[in-house]
Amino acid sequence: MERELFLYNTLNRKKEKFIPLNNGIVGLYVCGPTVYGDAHLGHSRPGITYDVLVRLFKHFGYKVRYVRNITDVGHLENDSDSGEDKIAQKARVEQIEPMEVVQYYTIRYHEAMKMLNTLPPSIEPRASGHIIEQIDLVNKILEKGYAYESNGSVYFDVNRYNSDFKYGRLSGRSLDDMQSNTRDLDGQQDKRSPFDFALWKKASPEHIMRWPSPWSDGFPGWHLECSAMSAKYLGESFDIHGGGMDLLFPHHECELAQNTAARGEGGIRYWMHNNMITINGQKMGKSLGNFITLPELFSGDHKLLQQAYSPMTIRFFILQAHYRSTLDFSNEALIAAEKGYKRLFNAKKDLDSIKLTTADLTKEVEDIYNDVYSALCDDLNTPIAIAKLFDAVRLINSAKDGSISLSKEDYNLLKALFNEVLSDVLGLREEGLNEDGNSKIGSLVELILDFRKEAKKNRDFAKSDEIRQKLTDLGITIKDTKEGTEWSI
Ligand code: ZN
Repeated sequence: MERELFLYNTLNRKKEKFIPLNNGIVGLYVCGPTVYGDAHLGHSRPGITYDVLVRLFKHFGYKVRYVRNITDVGHLENDSDSGEDKIAQKARVEQIEPMEVVQYYTIRYHEAMKMLNTLPPSIEPRASGHIIEQIDLVNKILEKGYAYESNGSVYFDVNRYNSDFKYGRLSGRSLDDMQSNTRDLDGQQDKRSPFDFALWKKASPEHIMRWPSPWSDGFPGWHLECSAMSAKYLGESFDIHGGGMDLLFPHHECELAQNTAARGEGGIRYWMHNNMITINGQKMGKSLGNFITLPELFSGDHKLLQQAYSPMTIRFFILQAHYRSTLDFSNEALIAAEKGYKRLFNAKKDLDSIKLTTADLTKEVEDIYNDVYSALCDDLNTPIAIAKLFDAVRLINSAKDGSISLSKEDYNLLKALFNEVLSDVLGLREEGLNEDGNSKIGSLVELILDFRKEAKKNRDFAKSDEIRQKLTDLGITIKDTKEGTEWSI
């Protein structure tokens, strides 16, 4: 069945029917991470949101070219135009090469994304591998008169741009309001206006990551890479640009300005933004002590965590909120998500043991099926789709206890919902659950921990330590607490 997909376009502030520019292939660019540390809870949201979008397109028969970059240069402290490069800073602290930092955290990012069952992007370009394209783009913007050189650096001329196009239209800001609300910033003496941003920065003598250019030995501005790489792999006009709400300003606003200055209006059709994750109502931040990385979530090794949470629990938790709403993390919410996730997969299994009738399709089942798809096509409304899947769970449970009966046709449609929507589109997979909804590996670990408890009781600490060490060697961490022994893989 041909289904119409509506997506909220940040640029026009409304939901719009999605029509691909090229028949059959969708171009999607998503801003990826700056790889100077482990992916955190916040990274899981764009990772999963755009993964569901890609999966939905594929489910509807589109081909997708999904480009997600790795930022390995040019992203400076405080997202500003001055200060140390985030990657160079980490390299200095760790006393290793910047590209060792990049390699290490890129691998760990891929591992975390794989555990969350996200599909890899079709192309994953790195900023440092596209210096030529970025220099080219700076030249184009200079030629069009929307940039100027100053002491070896090149800045984007926001005022000049604003008089021809409108700066701030993506984020809904006006340059006049911004100007009247801002004091002059320090260290901006090279710029004509504090709102101008760097396209190219001259490197100071101690700056390691540098390349030759017509203006100086230096490095590209952070916003420039996405304008250069998206056009390289998707063309100057493409369907969707996605990213987190935290990137809307200045990163995406500047990207849009660069694109428009160099190439004119109308390059990117839809801009999409996922909202943020808060922790117990607070923004996540290193200084607030509530910064939780994905490896910490999976192992439970963080003071705010009551237990380890499996990747599928995290995925389900994220999909239970609409991607444009804020989502508050708490142990209670994640424990509830874990239960909900298990209920869905247990019902999926129960479906196969129900005695079926030869009756026609039940209207209720047909409605659930259609409602699930309507929700997904309504700007990826995954919480409604999941709520409808729980309606299906209730039907399955009623059929199991004999209070209603389901036909073979009902079964086929419900089976399709679980296989095609739950697994293929929502990307939720079973984490080795047995009949009781417990992990088989989990039961084995519990069994081994019982032996260890026994050894401890008999004061055989050598044995107890040996068991711990062997589990650690297998990648299973255990932690003794007052309440007992906790473990995580
Ligand atoms: Zn970007």
